[in-house]
Amino acid sequence: MAQVKDPVCGMMIDSDKAAAKSSYQEQTYYFCAESCKRTFDANPGKYAQAGAAAPAAAGTGKAPSPGMGGKGPGAGKRSGMGPSKPKM
Ligand SMILES: [Zn+2]
Repeated sequence: MAQVKDPVCGMMIDSDKAAAKSSYQEQTYYFCAESCKRTFDANPGKYAQAGAAAPAAAGTGKAPSPGMGGKGPGAGKRSGMGPSKPKM
């Protein structure tokens, strides 16, 4: 039902109609043809990495904002907030 990408030729295919599929590192990859599966099986690391690159890159896009300063040199002073700093 789901649209998946054949990692070898880059074609979008329906996982139900895939001619072949292969499991690699707990992921299932679908192929438009047996020949694509054979190409993948010959060098799974190359194609599996290419396919996984997109979701991984999307995850790293959410970097912590540099303005928070949680680890900055002044972070230790924050615990002193309260009695030592009257708000008047
Ligand atoms: Zn293919």
